[in-house]
Amino acid sequence: MLEKVLNAIRERQRFVVTSHARPDGDGIGSALACAQILRVMGKDAEVVTYDGVPRIYQNLPFADRAIQAESVPPNDAVIMLECDSTRRALLQGLDQCFLINIDHHVSGRNFGHINWIDSNVMATAELVYRLARLACVPIDRDIATCLYTALMTDTGSFMFAGTNEHTFTVARELVVAGADPAQCARQIYFGHSTAKMRLLGAALSHLHREGTLAWIWVTREQMQRFGAREEDCEGLVNYALSMGDVQVAIFFRELPDSRYRVSLRSKGEVNVSTVAEHFGGGGHKCASGFSLDGPLTIAVSRVVDRLRAEPGDLNRASE
Ligand code: 5GP
Repeated sequence: MLEKVLNAIRERQRFVVTSHARPDGDGIGSALACAQILRVMGKDAEVVTYDGVPRIYQNLPFADRAIQAESVPPNDAVIMLECDSTRRALLQGLDQCFLINIDHHVSGRNFGHINWIDSNVMATAELVYRLARLACVPIDRDIATCLYTALMTDTGSFMFAGTNEHTFTVARELVVAGADPAQCARQIYFGHSTAKMRLLGAALSHLHREGTLAWIWVTREQMQRFGAREEDCEGLVNYALSMGDVQVAIFFRELPDSRYRVSLRSKGEVNVSTVAEHFGGGGHKCASGFSLDGPLTIAVSRVVDRLRAEPGDLNRASE
């Protein structure tokens, strides 16, 4: 499939590279690297996303030329990274484009004209790296920095289940190519806004526990009061997962129209991607997301009940 992707790229000139709405580190880092790899191949390539580059990723190389837009500009092909549908990218006009779909989610779908979905890798960055290698594009320091940041964030700093010697081999090659691990980590993990810290405090102030489950939430009012953006919610769920006797953590963010955006994280005993898919979302075994209707109490009980129905040991009392 990689050869098919490369041939499709060689046959075309103008590319748009995009990822999902509210892009995470793998979505943005892989897109910025992919567009640069295409430019080195002599192509015209732009990163275009519906939500723009989140603040903590704005120091990545090439981030300053990424375009925020509601519809896709003229192109010969769109490379969609980390998406299970055109809807997930939110850009208008994608359905009329030639689509190259590159993804590593178990919930990935064959919605493109070419679909390269490999759920054995930890990050889409690994697939973009393989593409560069096959295309004989040298990985310079800037491309390596984008790909290393993508890999670091999607592996939870090389801590998530599935991280193996292959992940470290790719990370090593990116470091050899010039990525600075300390610098990449500093931008992400020591680059938080004050608003995010205040939001974290509010979320943790109503931490709920039931057995080995934990959940937290933030309201629209809290987000407005602290001047927080959607991107400030990224990673808050991990604080609920960080307790020793918690197996699954849930984060609820209030949306307009009394809906809730949900992030699920698991330490590995419970597969949260099947739960997310049940509610129309997707993701990975240990990290997934979706949206559902409120009010909060109903949303919580629907998600908690569905999680409890999963194989695993969620009903065990906490220690
Ligand atoms: P997060 O909780 O950080 O938003 O997402 C965790 C993982 O689940 C990411 O890999 C993300 O791409 C995936 N994910 C989150 N929301 C959705 C969704 O609505 N649909 C699909 N297909 N995947 C999602």
